[in-house]
Amino acid sequence: MFKSLARSARYYCSSSSSISSPRLLGKVAIITGGASGIGKSTAAEFIKHGAQVVLADIDTKLGQLATHQLGSQAHFIKCDVSIESDIKEAVESTLAHHGKLDIMFNNAGIAGSAFPPSITDLDLEEFDRVMTINVRGVMAGIKHAARAMINHRSGGSILCTSSVSGLMGGLGPHPYTISKFTVPGIVKSLASELCQHGIRINCVSPSPIPTPLVINQFSNLFPEAKEVEIIKMVNELMGALKGGAKCEEIDIALAALYLSSDEAKYVSGHNLVVDGGFTSFKNLNI
Ligand code: NAD
Repeated sequence: MFKSLARSARYYCSSSSSISSPRLLGKVAIITGGASGIGKSTAAEFIKHGAQVVLADIDTKLGQLATHQLGSQAHFIKCDVSIESDIKEAVESTLAHHGKLDIMFNNAGIAGSAFPPSITDLDLEEFDRVMTINVRGVMAGIKHAARAMINHRSGGSILCTSSVSGLMGGLGPHPYTISKFTVPGIVKSLASELCQHGIRINCVSPSPIPTPLVINQFSNLFPEAKEVEIIKMVNELMGALKGGAKCEEIDIALAALYLSSDEAKYVSGHNLVVDGGFTSFKNLNI
């Protein structure tokens, strides 16, 4: 089975490894949107702590590059989270390959088009597109991961990515903001049902980090700006609010590591906001 999966056009595995500490030793994780940004950094942290990680991502080129960089504990499966059968296949392939699923990180997301000026101009097809990936994709991931964990009577940890845009309006376009507000609601709605099966569910809410998702958004707003200028702009905007500290992918990866590990065995239904106090400021000058 392993060989046929490894040979299959949709499942790739690279060849070097490095395990330094055992916080996730022996655990098997799927990370959607694992080929880039927060997902990729989280995969690196999970692997460093002893996990096998399946990167489930729509982008095959980025996914293969990421597995190559992350080593033999990383595997890639092409998966569009907006297609339920893709998620089902990602979970089934992981079970076939690794025999279990301990951690499901529903992290894939899109920003959608940059800042539609008003609700009166909202393109509802664009709204559906964002909700299909950012909300329905999360639901599909939870559904199929929970099925696997319940069938295996193994318990598990499910984690989803919300955002500071899920705590306040005006930071992003309406469809994105609404989709991110929904994620903590999903977590709250499902925590009590899942805890009966020993499954914890939480979400993490990052503040802006200059990943490709954010860089593309800023590029739409400032078409003349170079990528390096955009990264500086995002870091200065956030850093200025917090005395120079900036949110980095590793900050979210470490939050995900905690929530996915047995150290958080009594934490469920929680939204861990990683924003350096950003959403607590009284006057946001942005
Ligand atoms: P990113 O662009 O670096 O990574 C997103 C990944 O998701 C990419 O690899 C992309 O190929 C993948 N993806 C997109 N659509 C997909 C689909 N339909 N199916 C499967 N994979 C798909 O961006 P990121 O910032 O790392 O974003 C990860 C998550 O973090 C998103 O949910 C985003 O909304 C959230 N988030 C990001 C920030 C930020 O500032 N970067 C802040 C708050 C929340």
